[in-house]
Amino acid sequence: MSYSYEAPVSQSLFDRASVVTPGGVNSPVRAFRAVGGTPRFMVSGTGPYLTDADGREYVDLVCSWGPMILGHSHPEVIAAVQDAVGRGTSFGTPGEGEVALAEEIVSRIEPVEQVRLVSSGTEATMSAIRLARGFTGRAKVVKFAGCYHGHVDALLAAAGSGVATFGLPDTPGVTGAQAGDTIVLPYNDLDAVRAAFAAAPGEIACVITEASPGNMGVVPPLDGFNAGLKEICAANGALYISDEVMTGFRTSKAGWYGIDGVRPDLMTFGKVMGGGFPAAAFGGRADVMAHLAPAGPVYQAGTLSGNPVATAAGLAQLRLLDDAAYAKIDAVSAELRGLVSEAFTKEGVAHTVSAASNMFSVFFTDEPVLNYEDAKKQEAFRFTAFFHSMLAQGVYLPPSAFESWFVSTAHDTQAVERIAAALPAAARAASEATA
Ligand code: PLP
Repeated sequence: MSYSYEAPVSQSLFDRASVVTPGGVNSPVRAFRAVGGTPRFMVSGTGPYLTDADGREYVDLVCSWGPMILGHSHPEVIAAVQDAVGRGTSFGTPGEGEVALAEEIVSRIEPVEQVRLVSSGTEATMSAIRLARGFTGRAKVVKFAGCYHGHVDALLAAAGSGVATFGLPDTPGVTGAQAGDTIVLPYNDLDAVRAAFAAAPGEIACVITEASPGNMGVVPPLDGFNAGLKEICAANGALYISDEVMTGFRTSKAGWYGIDGVRPDLMTFGKVMGGGFPAAAFGGRADVMAHLAPAGPVYQAGTLSGNPVATAAGLAQLRLLDDAAYAKIDAVSAELRGLVSEAFTKEGVAHTVSAASNMFSVFFTDEPVLNYEDAKKQEAFRFTAFFHSMLAQGVYLPPSAFESWFVSTAHDTQAVERIAAALPAAARAASEATA
């Protein structure tokens, strides 16, 4: 199926990009491979809208994969960035902005006693794993199938379900040795975690989990799952790492921790805290963080870590995210979830709108989705038809059935009405789709 006629300027940019960049993109999911067609090259964003190179406007339900929680070009964030840029863009020295951002994070998230700033979520999880290994003197790491923690070698391992399955590399370029210490388990299955610890006593450094997964579609933890992980880790001398790169400062003022209150040993952040710039962080217990260089022996560093422009953007964004902002985002999310479900129900499309606070996604199944295996059973071909109908009607969804949708404080009545107007035809397209 070809969709290229819809966006001739984007198509010509994509053709140029494909000559000089592998697959024409700088991050794979942007290439539309899961849904086909021409990736839209965006030229500007304002509030809840994006404008592409062909001059078409879309209501944006991707929000840069989460960071743009105040919408695009928020005047106060832009002003903070302009102010910072006017004073220089990188010094390679400490600066007050990074202290203020660290203080903001520590003040919002009680288990974070100390925090180290980095430039991407990948760096944050990679560093947290290294620190956990350095702190415990152990090698093995437990992760869950369907949880994405960035493209860290050791975490790009997924194996068939089954108890304590040792990780096989998920991609060429990751060696068996790099993935061999990774144990991949089914999500939401505490028995599998207990069995893994029983099979490798004294060897597991940490369990890393998305606080509430959004990378296999939205699959929230069952009641007690995160608390169970914490308990098993504590009983076995392992660290519990909660990856809040996606949920942090999005699902509540204190992220998913603000919702389930389970106290991690280490946490990772990114996306929202950077205000649209490359800023991320990991932090947690002060006695664990004390092992990090230069205070301790575990090495970690970054030329652009704590960059003054990125920290100014992040700080400006976080300071605007008060209780009223979250109430607004939660309300828009709830309204959209209702509209989406109503549209599919009218067309008789089996579906589940799965939500974790204001993050949500649609699974094309009415069976419960508790883990990645369940998520993969959905009729994803229906999403392709739905996606392209929405896109043609000016609504920009994540180009995959396995990604969270994101809204912002800027998604106002007008934006919601545009989405509502597009849904009936898109739901019909989903109902008529064939595998
Ligand atoms: N962890 C989670 C939960 C994520 O969703 C992502 C990115 O989507 C990452 C880590 C990696 O972050 P980055 O893309 O900034 O490297």
